Amino acid sequence: MFTKILIANRGEIACRVIKTARQMGILTVAVYSDADADSLHVNMADEAIYLGPSPSRESYLLGEKVIEAAKRTGAQAIHPGYGFLSENAEFCRLCEKENIIFIGPPVGAIEAMGSKSAAKNIMEKAKVPLVPGYHGDDQSTEVLKKAADDMGYPVLLKATAGGGGKGMRQVWSSEEFNEGLAAAKREAKSSFGDDTMLVEKYLTQPRHVEIQVFCDNHGNAVYLFERDCSVQRRHQKVIEEAPAPGMSEDLRAAMGESAIKSAQAIGYQGAGTVEFLLDVDGSFYFMEMNTRLQVEHPVTEFISGQDLVEWQLRVAAGENLPKRQDELGIKGHAFEARIYAEDANNDFLPATGTLDFLQPPLESEHVRIDTGVRQGDEVSVFYDPMIAKLIVWDENRDKALQRLAKALAEYRINGVVTNIDFLYNLATCPAFVKADLDTGFIDKHQADIF
Ligand code: ADP
Repeated sequence: MFTKILIANRGEIACRVIKTARQMGILTVAVYSDADADSLHVNMADEAIYLGPSPSRESYLLGEKVIEAAKRTGAQAIHPGYGFLSENAEFCRLCEKENIIFIGPPVGAIEAMGSKSAAKNIMEKAKVPLVPGYHGDDQSTEVLKKAADDMGYPVLLKATAGGGGKGMRQVWSSEEFNEGLAAAKREAKSSFGDDTMLVEKYLTQPRHVEIQVFCDNHGNAVYLFERDCSVQRRHQKVIEEAPAPGMSEDLRAAMGESAIKSAQAIGYQGAGTVEFLLDVDGSFYFMEMNTRLQVEHPVTEFISGQDLVEWQLRVAAGENLPKRQDELGIKGHAFEARIYAEDANNDFLPATGTLDFLQPPLESEHVRIDTGVRQGDEVSVFYDPMIAKLIVWDENRDKALQRLAKALAEYRINGVVTNIDFLYNLATCPAFVKADLDTGFIDKHQADIF
């Protein structure tokens, strides 16, 4: 096992990784920018190295500086967290060159999943079910339009380089196609510098169900069940839960096996998430694979009783997976709510300011708070304005949901506008209590939520 690792991230995920490393007796090195000089993750780590000015481009995204910091402190491995350098193939390659272990998959797996169309090509060959659509190289308007006309409307145009919900556009009829394509291409070009598009059948009421997978370097692979992330705003997750309500054992096994097939098709190692759309008729389709630890991993930790960061560290150090598939099971139900500094009543405008008063609910075997801030800290303009993740567990969904509502009601934050009331309304809205979920949930139940 490593004796020292560097965490190339900030905020809650940096703190989260440090906690497990410390439990395992591993020393930690934090990195930080100007804005984070006095932040919690710097405080918690055994050492901290300054990277540069506050904008991520000048600090957290500077792969070479991060590697230099690892070498200087004698860290043997780098945990990238999520975001920043976590899915950057160039960085992964650089680590390899410098003999530092990247705690994540091999570079080839990152590259294979970096393009949505390349990923779909691979999955098609591996016989993983795909959303019907076109993901070819011929990008002429005629070919794209014919694909859409043939499969029937509505369709969804997606930038192959896309992420974070950007570069996506629905088209509802043949007449609107050319205009929709031009707009989607413009957005893709400006966001990703690449306007290659794929066309997919637009499912009108799907659920977003994703499978947590893990592979080691010895050919072992398991899935740690599913998360339902259907509650989204602008294709971004708001509340996640595990297991997915109403999931049959057969469907769970079928999706789990498909996810493992996806991972194995790209020679995966470490923690990964295979995202599927689950249609009303029970069909499921591969959407993409995220080659990192996800924000919502704690709900899986709660129901499986496993520490996924510990698993990551063990696999990266060359150990076998800690458990076999038949040793894993689901216990109870968990929810995660993402607490953001944002104004739900003003188009979710990100908010900034000082956390003058901060009193989260008490942590227990039922309530977990993953955060990177303390009372008195600043929510700045430089980074994602997430304040904390509130994760709750109980023996069944109803009880867990009551825990969530209670914990949200108890959460006290002054000084910065937050989305806590919005999350509370969502968690207590009758349709959510009934688990009547699909990706259009928030739009459909606006009247109950806002
Ligand atoms: P990104 O990489 O930008 O996050 P994804 O491909 O992961 O994009 O899709 C994000 C979300 O968009 C999904 O969770 C789902 O809500 C919606 N979505 C994606 N593809 C489809 C589709 N074919 N039909 C309906 N909704 C879709």
